[in-house]
Amino acid sequence: MKFSESVGQNSVISKLVNSVDNGRISHAQLFFAKEGSGALPLALAYIQYIACPNRADGDSCGECNTCKKLSSFSHPDLHFSFPIISGAKAIDSDYFMAQWRAISQGSTYFSPTDWKERIGAEKKQLNIPVKEADRISKKLSLKSYEGGYKFMVIWLAEYMKAPMANKLLKLLEEPPKKTLIILITNNFENILGTILSRTQLVKLNIPQDEEIVDYLVANYGVNSEAAKDAARLADGNISQAIHAAKNETPNARNLETFSSLMRFAYKKDIVGAINWADKLHNFGREELKQFLIYSLHIVRQCIIGNYAGAEVRKLNESENDFAAKFAPFINHSNVVQVYEHLSEAESDIARNGSAKIILLDMAIELFRLINPKR
Ligand SMILES: [Zn+2]
Repeated sequence: MKFSESVGQNSVISKLVNSVDNGRISHAQLFFAKEGSGALPLALAYIQYIACPNRADGDSCGECNTCKKLSSFSHPDLHFSFPIISGAKAIDSDYFMAQWRAISQGSTYFSPTDWKERIGAEKKQLNIPVKEADRISKKLSLKSYEGGYKFMVIWLAEYMKAPMANKLLKLLEEPPKKTLIILITNNFENILGTILSRTQLVKLNIPQDEEIVDYLVANYGVNSEAAKDAARLADGNISQAIHAAKNETPNARNLETFSSLMRFAYKKDIVGAINWADKLHNFGREELKQFLIYSLHIVRQCIIGNYAGAEVRKLNESENDFAAKFAPFINHSNVVQVYEHLSEAESDIARNGSAKIILLDMAIELFRLINPKR
């Protein structure tokens, strides 16, 4: 992974490059990014830049042995720790290393949901168990195999609870020589103060739509119109944009699904809504999640249009047609709740509640909000 392969992080990359070029690499860093902004690919490109013996022009060479081993996840001094299924079994990140390599080799822009699916944890909670702290210390106390830096990437550090985090503090304060620990988080608020005070914060940018479009066109063989649709919907989330661009959940179908629900709401057609929820019950969980994210996007754009004028809505033609009819039903008295019910359904679906119950509950709430007088 080279810096040139990461999306929308140029200003952050300059700072990272400078720190390496000036020999001032902080040994413990916290990469904070909104989900889907690409903290993992950036961390990997940074590591490759540090380790590559032939770095030039602010990037690693990508071709030497070190670069190849790092980008194929086979470098013996590159270690990972990540959330796994919590349970009684004595398992740690090593147990899931094959899945970790497989998903990372596909694309390092995978989401927490993608990871859950990969390890068969759709119906389970994830965490980084306490015993993982011992594993991390042990990995970093080993002598470097290749004589250079040892790297530990802790992906989604917000999954560490206090007992686990506390066991790491000493290591973060005084790590072995030539060691770099990168913690990655999407939820800054859930990182303990004791961790914050011992790490250097690296805040990532949210990639711009045009940057995501270029990336999708170059890497996923989609045309620029499809890439624009995907980027608009993703709102800076590259993982999300990739899912949309791979056409797993075409926007056209999501729009049809959302507009039919709104038609039922307008007519107060409860039977229609029950049938609607029944039909959606057969969608995969990821598809449902994408649908709800899509619906949130449409509602958000309608509100933006109501306040700032229809021309600023980030919508394609058919979405704009729908928004022209639908936007008047969304206003200051119901928007917060409409938004909340959709978001809540989205997180409940992600947490594996019963899709049918969640969708029907949501539909009934939306009926009330969209059409209060009838
Ligand atoms: Zn190299």
